[in-house]
Amino acid sequence: MSSSFPSAPVDALPVVVIAGRPNVGKSTIFNRLVGRRQALVADTPGVTRDRKEGQATVRGRAIRIIDTAGLEEAAPDTLYGRMRASSESAVATADLVLFCIDARSGITPADEHFANWLRRQGRPVLLIANKAEGRQGAAAAMEAFSLGLGAPLAISAEHGEGVADLMAEIVDRLPPTDLPPVHKLTRRDRRVLAESAEEEEDVRPPGPLRLAIVGRPNAGKSTLLNRLLGEERMITGPEPGLTRDSIAVMLNDDEGPIQLVDTAGLRRKARIDETLEKMSVSASIEALKMAEVVILVLDATLGVHEQDLQIARLIEREGRCCVLALNKWDAVEDRAETRQAIRDRIETSLAQMRGIPVVSFSAMTGAGINKLLPTVRRAYEVWNRRVPTGALNRWFEMMVSRHPPPLVDGRRLKLRYITQAKARPPTFIVFGTRTDQLPEDYQRYLVNGLRETFDLPGTPIRLLLRASS
Ligand code: GDP
Ligand code: GDP
Repeated sequence: MSSSFPSAPVDALPVVVIAGRPNVGKSTIFNRLVGRRQALVADTPGVTRDRKEGQATVRGRAIRIIDTAGLEEAAPDTLYGRMRASSESAVATADLVLFCIDARSGITPADEHFANWLRRQGRPVLLIANKAEGRQGAAAAMEAFSLGLGAPLAISAEHGEGVADLMAEIVDRLPPTDLPPVHKLTRRDRRVLAESAEEEEDVRPPGPLRLAIVGRPNAGKSTLLNRLLGEERMITGPEPGLTRDSIAVMLNDDEGPIQLVDTAGLRRKARIDETLEKMSVSASIEALKMAEVVILVLDATLGVHEQDLQIARLIEREGRCCVLALNKWDAVEDRAETRQAIRDRIETSLAQMRGIPVVSFSAMTGAGINKLLPTVRRAYEVWNRRVPTGALNRWFEMMVSRHPPPLVDGRRLKLRYITQAKARPPTFIVFGTRTDQLPEDYQRYLVNGLRETFDLPGTPIRLLLRASS
């Protein structure tokens, strides 16, 4: 009876919940992840049906996996009701939810309904487009992007394709190892957490800053790339993990190296006009996944288009930091007015990116281009920032006493404590009672306050809510 989890009691492990409508492949994914450990599958009393639960070691981390498949029949008598009831309790304790759709059948109303509900639960979600084997799979997976749960990960659980990526993405999204799972935090844990956060050094991962250039077709991305390469020293070489014909391009200014990612994607051009728009979004996804900082290039003569916003939201959802580049500034007539109009549009349409840095220049003539890399570095610095725990909690007490959270069902919801779980992007955890009912506008109040008080302009800010009993 050997166990690979000698020191970790089962209920201290992070919990990953697999959810989605029936038949999308949840059980198949569960089996892929749990493998032979399925022997540990347990019946959980209190649920009318068996709750399939197992343990897995994913990239060296022990996790608990709950499969919500099969629970559907037990619950109220509509499909939505069944899906929701079956998943509600599981999702409530989840450190990560794997939300699955069937890439072959496309997005159904049930998927949308479920995704909407899930978005409001405040749990980290990884969107999986399963049954995406072969070529059409990837295209269908793109559609899942519309669910607003971030970039979908295309896999084929049955054929084992993309399962390694899935594991990597899961581990990426788990709480840091030094953080106890959410439902197990005691008061003492929280104190320890706070102290350790304070002591933690601001360690930057080794290697150059990774930068992507994205934007709609004809915004001037290639021109900008060439301009940057022309002005800076360039080193090229094979880029590990990418297709053979893509190259790593390094910019080197006084402040150190910057690696441009996915320059090959930039050079790929779509042939037909119709697919061009789609291409630019899917190419952007690939590029920004590899990047830390993303330059979103706009053609300033055209203003802000819906697709620009779509790409910006994608950057936000992926937690990358973004610099907005207003290109073709040479061709803009009323500059003050144009800048203000674009800013206004961004601030109203992208509240999550308030304070986003904006640089205007002409990639063609080079005018104004010298501001770009310094702005990129500043944005990167903000994205990496850590707020000291002491200051954070003094601020939190002030915010909560100035504007206490509302009553829910006549009872006050208590917010006790906040800590920054990680940077890149800045991610905060609020502990309290019944935090699952904390209204969205109150969450916005906290996020906006964090942004202003601790000077975090432009970066995505994550706020996680944890109930501690
Ligand atoms: P659940 O109801 O969500 O748990 O779905 P299951 O795991 O039971 O899978 C439903 C059906 O989809 C089964 O017939 C599986 O064999 C099939 N399936 C699961 N994963 C894949 C896949 O990657 N590709 C294809 N083509 N079929 C799959
Ligand atoms: P991409 O599709 O985003 O890579 O865009 P390109 O770099 O191919 O540029 C599209 C068009 O815009 C080309 O005709 C460029 O010459 C033009 N362009 C790029 N940058 C500028 C600029 O700063 N000013 C002006 N006036 N035109 C530009």
